[in-house]
Amino acid sequence: MEQDHPLVRDVFPDLIAELTALLEDEGERELALCAWDLRLVDECSCGDDFCQSIRTADHPKGQPYGAGHRCVPLLPSKGMLILDVADGRIMYIEILDRPPMHRQGAQP
Ligand SMILES: [Zn+2]
Repeated sequence: MEQDHPLVRDVFPDLIAELTALLEDEGERELALCAWDLRLVDECSCGDDFCQSIRTADHPKGQPYGAGHRCVPLLPSKGMLILDVADGRIMYIEILDRPPMHRQGAQP
């Protein structure tokens, strides 16, 4: 319903650039295309220093993703990037042990 979530590529362009390159390397062309259009729905609120994970789709908290769910672990140069994919849709990007990401673009 809410359509004003910013594009992740506008907020964290470096992240999306790296993510799409890694996905192409893995042969995940479809997901690489999806990554380009991801929106930043929410940020992980666990508060752990090493965690900068982001939610990229609306999904009820604590609900399982269901049968179409898979994890796609990637091999970035630093830290860990793991995608949660449900029915071909990227729901969540786990971003762990990565250098701090800095938001780009205009701040309200
Ligand atoms: Zn977290």
